[in-house]
Amino acid sequence: MFFVFPQIERATTLTTIFFVYNEIMNWVREILKHYNLDEEFSDQQVLLFWNDVVGSQLARMTRATRLSNGTLTVEVASPIVSQELNLLKQNYIDLLNERMGRDVLQRIRFVPGRFPRPPIPLVTAESDPSVGNLALSGIDDAHLRDSFNSLYRTQRRREHAMLKAGARRCPRCGVVFFGNEEICPGCQFDEIADKQ
Ligand SMILES: [Zn+2]
Repeated sequence: MFFVFPQIERATTLTTIFFVYNEIMNWVREILKHYNLDEEFSDQQVLLFWNDVVGSQLARMTRATRLSNGTLTVEVASPIVSQELNLLKQNYIDLLNERMGRDVLQRIRFVPGRFPRPPIPLVTAESDPSVGNLALSGIDDAHLRDSFNSLYRTQRRREHAMLKAGARRCPRCGVVFFGNEEICPGCQFDEIADKQ
């Protein structure tokens, strides 16, 4: 049965559209919930926050590609960028979890990725301590940047001391570790996980 209204007001039409849209979204949510996919679905939003959290300079050299079992995989343009990011990895995890409003992330793994343009050669704090550091380039808030900065310097000193004491740097992810293996325990774990 059809009713033809001679004049449908614009407001009424919009209300109807919103109503239909809401109904569809509720329906999508119900289906996701039914298959236990709703949390999984919203967890993936963390991929969208990555660029925000690292800032525009690092966003050009990195790409968050996958979230699985609490591990965020980020493709990185060069090992130097991985090294820089590794120093503040835990803070990125904290910031992302804060954005998400719950603990979605436990780990971030950096893997080599292909980028359209070769990365800009970087002068790092390791080769020249007076150089401002890349990992902090995206932080606008001055107070936050200061606390990151002191943490960054502490981490740098720690790395330096570890390397002097015979530690090595993982060629894959840039993390400094003690051990005789070629790659760090984290990357060894990833290799095993990837094979499964
Ligand atoms: Zn590694």
